[in-house]
Amino acid sequence: MAQRFSEDLKRRILEANNLLDVVQGAVGKLVRAGRNYKACCPFHNEKTPSFNVNAEGQYFKCFGCGKGGNVITFVMLYERVEFPEALRILADRAGIQVEYDPRAAEQYKKETDFKSYLYRLNDVAAKYYREQLFADSGKVAREYLKKRGLSEEICEQFRIGYAPSGDGLVSRLTSQKAPLRALLAAGLASQRENGATRDFFFNRLMFPISNMEGRVIAFGARILGDGEPKYLNTRDTLLFSKTQTVYGMDFARDEVKKQNKAIIVEGYTDV
Ligand code: ZN
Repeated sequence: MAQRFSEDLKRRILEANNLLDVVQGAVGKLVRAGRNYKACCPFHNEKTPSFNVNAEGQYFKCFGCGKGGNVITFVMLYERVEFPEALRILADRAGIQVEYDPRAAEQYKKETDFKSYLYRLNDVAAKYYREQLFADSGKVAREYLKKRGLSEEICEQFRIGYAPSGDGLVSRLTSQKAPLRALLAAGLASQRENGATRDFFFNRLMFPISNMEGRVIAFGARILGDGEPKYLNTRDTLLFSKTQTVYGMDFARDEVKKQNKAIIVEGYTDV
């Protein structure tokens, strides 16, 4: 991220945000225990409090899961954000004006605007593939799903769709004035040698891949019938990194956190 915080600003933000207040604002009132304050840990599932806040030293420590740190660490963990975003949240909370380097801020805005545009494109694509599943040409995909025993509810929940042959998605998006540059950047289109743009996915069953917030960032696609490769993923884009994404985690994350365990399986339909 292109934001920069000076040391002085960091110090002011730390001074203006009392850890105990921030924690109590997030998890409710803490119970005093000697020099510390105690609560059930917000980062792991427990019945007896092992989450301690030391108000004097302005640090917290959980003796259950080991998490600890200062008020910035707490916000990063609790809000699941990166360091700069945690600082921004705390600055807002304390009414501190954050001054950005104007050039960095402009660049940052450009990048975020483009990213949110890519999110939108992926969402339109997921809707398009979903719609195609119920079109005449989607019959082969519907039959496959039935054979695999995937109920309609599951298919709806996971937004499973179908990419027919042809360049329907690119036509639709360009008719909606989406720039080709963005289609290519989202990994939804690819370029023929003669420069023409075509759908990246065709004749495939489509599994939208979402981030932790449930926004579609990529697709996993299984061929229907013969052909290679059997599975094709969106290549890495601004939104998607294959090695850092676990399919289905948007649905599983709360339960994984609660039970403190996860079962990892190999395929999309196994999930
Ligand atoms: Zn804990």
